[in-house]
Amino acid sequence: MMNYKSTRNNDVTVTASVAISRGISEDGGLFVPESMPWLSYTDLKILTDSDYVARANDILSRFLGDFTPGEVLNCVSQAYTREKFETESIAPLYELEPGVYLLELWHGPTCAFKDMALQLLPHLLSVSVEKAEPGKTVVILVATSGDTGKAALEGFRDVPGTRILVFYPEQGVSPLQKLQMATQEGENVYVSAIRGNFDDAQAGVKAVFTDTAVKQKLAEHNMVFSSANSINWGRLVPQIVYYISSYCDLIKNNRISAGEHINIVVPTGNFGNILAAYYAKKMGIPINKLICASNANNVLTEFLQTGVYDRNRPFYTTISPSMDILISSNLERLLYDLSACDDKQVRGYMDSLAKTGRYEVDEAIKKSLQEHFWASYCDDDGTRSTIRETYAKNACVTDPHTAVALNVYRQYREKTGDEAKTIIASTASAYKFAGDVVGAIRSEQTANADQRTLVGELSKLSLSKPPKQISSLFEKPVRFEGVCDKEGMQQTIFTVLGID
Ligand SMILES: *Cc1c(COP(=O)(O)O)cnc(C)c1O
Repeated sequence: MMNYKSTRNNDVTVTASVAISRGISEDGGLFVPESMPWLSYTDLKILTDSDYVARANDILSRFLGDFTPGEVLNCVSQAYTREKFETESIAPLYELEPGVYLLELWHGPTCAFKDMALQLLPHLLSVSVEKAEPGKTVVILVATSGDTGKAALEGFRDVPGTRILVFYPEQGVSPLQKLQMATQEGENVYVSAIRGNFDDAQAGVKAVFTDTAVKQKLAEHNMVFSSANSINWGRLVPQIVYYISSYCDLIKNNRISAGEHINIVVPTGNFGNILAAYYAKKMGIPINKLICASNANNVLTEFLQTGVYDRNRPFYTTISPSMDILISSNLERLLYDLSACDDKQVRGYMDSLAKTGRYEVDEAIKKSLQEHFWASYCDDDGTRSTIRETYAKNACVTDPHTAVALNVYRQYREKTGDEAKTIIASTASAYKFAGDVVGAIRSEQTANADQRTLVGELSKLSLSKPPKQISSLFEKPVRFEGVCDKEGMQQTIFTVLGID
């Protein structure tokens, strides 16, 4: 049976359901599978002939050791439905030009790739908690700078046995993101703004989450906290599926022959999405280079090129905000793997990161990094010109995150001359960032323009209809207008849960 280890202590062994319900190991490490399942040629052939739900079911079954086959199938069938995703194929490939494919991961309820995992995680979590702590209601607390909160709300909305409370910085999210959260539907959801910035919201959530008296109080009411953030294995494992699935689609559509090597480009923040592609490679998908694309916050570019991770640098707010990150938590899982599961070595690097904000990996790890990865970055001007050129040359509108990936892919192609077929992860719908996209295409300022007008403008430019998740936002009643202080969060949570 597939069990999980902690990246900081090899003596820890837990089941899949414990790994998912706890989220993080007590030693601060992240849970990783004990071994990687291997996909044989026959397995790949079967997957190629299956639809997305069947592919997800097959792949997840190999990882969720203590789930029954019925439980896994039940989870994936509830997550990837036509009701929730705009397309039959769930994660379709779009041929941008010969040999270059955009893997569109944004056809879910919130128009960004986080839906791919957050539509499934609540179901995995319900089953996991039922096994680990039967009868308990799971309470999810989220501090969000925008995208994650909305995707988590949509994922957990009306899932039996769960409640979700989301806190966002009053001044720190875009107008469209605010509207998305304020109009959230569902009986088990709650949203509040916080006076302060994202760090205040984050610190507030963390304080409540780790308070033993609060924990005790929840326990008395048969409730337990859990987390939906991207270090939870239950968020990572669904992401492996779409990389394997896209390779199968290339075979199915006669774009590659089985066994042909491809490249994968991923616009990266917390290193979760690209790590899932690395795991797909370890499972046997023939991937040549994993190309890591960053924005001006280029800490990962430097790390993958030099082996030095140094977060002591300025933080830039960019037009690809979901990649504005200086601590890429999921990197820890890669280090564990590349050090041949050396928990002490990983612990050393993470201690050094916590103390000095910096660490340098040894030569062996550095060599493996360069064997698997290629990395570069572009700033906002580069992102805008890529949006403009892709519109002019390929008649395709791309969101700023996807544009960063495309920009870096163009750099890769120029530097290496590698013409292998390439999949580029497209992580958000352009409509979600309509202002910046319209502004880039027209080379004009859109900062003060009305959101609804911008969505209309993008629709005209792209000759497409906005997704209904976006256009319907302007018609929905606002349900959540509350603002609280960081100090008032605990009371707010008690009141919402009805336990004071
Ligand atoms: C979260 C996010 C990313 C970054 O993904 P990581 O898994 O954090 O690397 C990229 N693009 C968009 C649109 C996102 O929401």
